[in-house]
Amino acid sequence: MDKAVFPAGAYCRAVEGIIAAGQRMDRHGWVPATAGNISIRLPDGNLAITRSGGHKGLLGADGVIAVDMAGVPLNAGDRPSAETLLHCQIYAHDPQAGAVLHGHSVASTVLSMLGGDALVLEGYEVQKVFAGQTTHGARVHVPIFDNDQDIARLSRVVAPHLDGMRAGYIIRGHGVYVWGADMDTALARLEGLEFLLACELEKRKFG
Ligand SMILES: [Zn+2]
Repeated sequence: MDKAVFPAGAYCRAVEGIIAAGQRMDRHGWVPATAGNISIRLPDGNLAITRSGGHKGLLGADGVIAVDMAGVPLNAGDRPSAETLLHCQIYAHDPQAGAVLHGHSVASTVLSMLGGDALVLEGYEVQKVFAGQTTHGARVHVPIFDNDQDIARLSRVVAPHLDGMRAGYIIRGHGVYVWGADMDTALARLEGLEFLLACELEKRKFG
């Protein structure tokens, strides 16, 4: 991507960060077809977020749009993803959140379809990637919510659980939501969570 096509300033850096994150998620196979969405909080309080549709591994600058904290596009005519509301909810809940990632991995999809309302991860060194985790001996609780095409209704189900959610959450048969203070932190947490989910899936294959 030719950087000269980007607008200047913070929005430009956000677009570059989102494009790079999409490529990294694609390399892991976490954003098949047009799945997933990626956002960054801008200094003016608005959000840069992937446009509805489009492959996240092949994003150009026109694959990212600006929306306000209610998910309304700043440029009339831009079409945000339906799941933009879930990004807005995370930024509104956590003033420290600077980037949000959503992917559809095999591990999150399969594990969440095996039942239960949470995955409890324990004993893994990698769980220290999550805020407040200093030892493999702690337990990381990852809530699972039933999938819902009505995103406003889904957000109301998620809302009471956001406090203390260290590793993000999973939507059943769908994928994960992970966030961090900046894109690097969010990507590290996503990689950590997906590693742990892949380990859990392998463990269960062995009974
Ligand atoms: Zn999704």
